[in-house]
Amino acid sequence: MRGSRPESIVVIGAGEAGARAAMALREQGFAGRVTIIGDEPHAPYERPPLSKAALTDEVEPQAAFILTPERLAEHAITHRSDTRVLAIDRDAHRIELAGGERIAYDRLLLATGASARRLSIDGAGPDNVQTLRTLDEARALRTRLRPGSHLAILGGGFIGLELAAAARARGAEVTLIELAPRLLARAVPADLAAIIARRHEAEGVRLLTGTGIASIETDSTGHVVSLSTGERVVCDAILAGIGAIPETGLAERAGLAIDNGIAVDERLATNDPDIFAAGDCCSFPHALYGGRRVRLEAWRNAQDQGNAAATNLLGGSDAYEAVPWFWSDQYDITLQIAGLADEGSETVTRELGDDARLDFHLANDGRLVAASAVGPNGKIARDVRLAEMLIARRATPDRAALAAPAVKLKGLLAG
Ligand SMILES: Cc1cc2nc3c(=O)[nH]c(=O)nc-3n(C[C@H](O)[C@H](O)[C@H](O)COP(=O)(O)OP(=O)(O)OC[C@H]3O[C@@H](n4cnc5c(N)ncnc54)[C@H](O)[C@@H]3O)c2cc1C
Repeated sequence: MRGSRPESIVVIGAGEAGARAAMALREQGFAGRVTIIGDEPHAPYERPPLSKAALTDEVEPQAAFILTPERLAEHAITHRSDTRVLAIDRDAHRIELAGGERIAYDRLLLATGASARRLSIDGAGPDNVQTLRTLDEARALRTRLRPGSHLAILGGGFIGLELAAAARARGAEVTLIELAPRLLARAVPADLAAIIARRHEAEGVRLLTGTGIASIETDSTGHVVSLSTGERVVCDAILAGIGAIPETGLAERAGLAIDNGIAVDERLATNDPDIFAAGDCCSFPHALYGGRRVRLEAWRNAQDQGNAAATNLLGGSDAYEAVPWFWSDQYDITLQIAGLADEGSETVTRELGDDARLDFHLANDGRLVAASAVGPNGKIARDVRLAEMLIARRATPDRAALAAPAVKLKGLLAG
């Protein structure tokens, strides 16, 4: 139906990107049918609190709704919860739900997100190794965090580290096991990861880096995680925070192009002009980085792509090129990353005092391609925001000015 105005838009996946897109369709004046279908039992809710406040609050966590049932109704957005979409019939412009019902669409948005990677090792299964992606999983995990309990966390990425901080706040003992020689090896520069590691150790987390897992045994009294070093860690609960896998099954079965996620162009369109994708599930060419294809697992990206997808579902031609941005809260410190740090070949550091620092990542030609910072939120947030603006402008700031805390980044922006 390329070109003509759609009458019915269906969004698959009622998470951050899907909910934002549904709302943005209304904000942009779309008066046709909007249906959002998700397989979870709740109205769309925020995931970031699940590894933070939802685990540390005294009371059982409630969903932090992105769109409440009332708001969905007010904007005439039909939300089908607890409903899995099984297939897309592209020729007939119809999707099929579990149970056999079919729904017609003019344009379709895939916002299917990602799911937690499962540990495939002797003795590990969904009953004894928990993951953390959904509200229901956070609720289940929270009951295991109490003084005297011992939690083994497999994986030193963001989820594992945020959970370690939450578990310590609730008085649980924590052993965190990471195969790589250091924490956050995939996304964070070594100097910043070292600050984070020191903080966890100071809070009483036992960090075992460069350590593999041989097997897991479970009986009625608890679990034993056997390590590559021969040590046996006895614990009451095990969480695997070993990454996420994009949900591409539906797209794959429909014959859509896949490349580390559902492959979309800069307008977030798939190789079917009536089907778009947004959020954790898709990879897209990033104009700021020479068209390099990236897939981001980040809250703001899911929101921004939801907005951009809505525009383009309605026939727009917005090219998505927002600067990637991610944050993580652990104890009272925040880590923020703007841009893609691995695009840099040189790092310039700005010391902000009190274990707070900001790394600027420059490409060969001196262009600022990323900034990463760790420290109290109040010390780093503003500078990262300004760095983000410099990155978006493809600025080539003076190295000495970047390194000097006395030089205001705002001034560099003006230059
Ligand atoms: C515990 C946790 C903490 C996080 N903390 C941060 C943070 O501090 N900072 C940050 O930047 N980012 C954070 N994130 C990442 C951020 O939440 C995600 O990037 C964002 O939620 C992605 O949104 P999405 O809409 O693409 O996918 P999701 O939020 O995963 O939503 C996709 C939805 O689609 C549903 N679905 C999939 N397939 C189907 C189907 N066939 N039929 C029906 N429904 C389907 C899924 O069940 C899911 O409900 C965190 C994520 C988690 C899990």
